[in-house]
Amino acid sequence: MPGKSTVTVHADRGIHSSRAVAPPIYQTAAFSAEDAATFAAGAVEPRGADFYTRFGNPNHAQVAAVVAELERTEAAMVTASGMAAITTAVLALVSAGDHVIGQKSTYGGTASVLLNLLPRLGVSTTLVDQTSAEEFEKALTPKTRLILVETPSNPLLQITDLRAVADLAHAHGVLTLADNTFATPLNQRPTDVGIDVVWHSATKYLNGHSDVSAGVLAGPAEILDRIWDTSLLTGATLGPIDAWLLLRGIRTLPLRVPRHNDNGLALAEALNSHPAVARVHYPGLATHPQHELAADQMKGFGGVLSVEFTGGYEMADAFLSHLRYPRRSASLGGVESLAVQPASMWAGMLSDDQITDAVPAGLVRLAAGTEDTADLVADALAAADALHH
Ligand SMILES: *Cc1c(COP(=O)(O)O)cnc(C)c1O
Repeated sequence: MPGKSTVTVHADRGIHSSRAVAPPIYQTAAFSAEDAATFAAGAVEPRGADFYTRFGNPNHAQVAAVVAELERTEAAMVTASGMAAITTAVLALVSAGDHVIGQKSTYGGTASVLLNLLPRLGVSTTLVDQTSAEEFEKALTPKTRLILVETPSNPLLQITDLRAVADLAHAHGVLTLADNTFATPLNQRPTDVGIDVVWHSATKYLNGHSDVSAGVLAGPAEILDRIWDTSLLTGATLGPIDAWLLLRGIRTLPLRVPRHNDNGLALAEALNSHPAVARVHYPGLATHPQHELAADQMKGFGGVLSVEFTGGYEMADAFLSHLRYPRRSASLGGVESLAVQPASMWAGMLSDDQITDAVPAGLVRLAAGTEDTADLVADALAAADALHH
């Protein structure tokens, strides 16, 4: 089995090979067929690459081949965004009357699927404290079909015990989906411990350059076939050129992630003892309440940390204004450092009372890019020093 840096460069080689070293962009909405039988077969082939781009495209198939090898799954597929991946998956896997378990600390869009979309469709949901595996067990009902986990979680960097949740789910015939966006397959491979399906906002680390919106799903072919069927109806198709950019971005993922890990840890350590800082949330810190679990299931701790300031929302805002390198932005996972106050961003996805628990007002989410570590640390410390604390 080749290593990850080899996989990201070569796993797509066999798909529509041409003499071009860089793969061509198949900028086409449809493909032609030689005869009726070929056409009919193309119409029903899950994630096929030669029928109609909403059904599949060679640029999709190339990304999927790389992702499936990185996540060690039978199959993978791409979608137009991370939210397209999770919403399509959930719509494919549950029906009215079913029950879904999710986490209290989770990406705002995922929280809104659980709190708003699914209940409207007659699917009941329970959001649990992910730091306790027993909470998942307590939330199980005979109607539970799906458990959605996200670890480390956005924005509080809480850890879910992936093995414990997968074991519990299997014992009860429940499917598990893990959002692996923050960790990336370099730092964590959920399917190794029994998670069924992994998904990513490929907008973040997988693409890595803040220039594409995309999502991926990876898992057993039988489950991905069902999700693909529903994707034909949701129609959140990734454009061929965006798939091509995503493939180009993913080629260097194994080079970028170690630098993100180094920068995340260095920033977390530097800010952890600053007097303006009440608390740093970063699973790589020995002071993180779940550091041992994180160290057990992760190879690196990622580039995202969140910092709670002693002076609430205003002080967090001032910190962002003082930063020289990280810009104020909703995204993360690119080569450039970005920072955001999740409290203001989550407001676009959830109501005020849905936000309070998961997102403290004085919280800053800092996503370390690939800049030089010393520059990022000096910048963050100078910005914190400039605060009136
Ligand atoms: C950004 C993000 C998403 C949503 O992905 P989009 O590509 O923006 O749709 C989902 N989960 C996590 C953890 C994220 O950070």
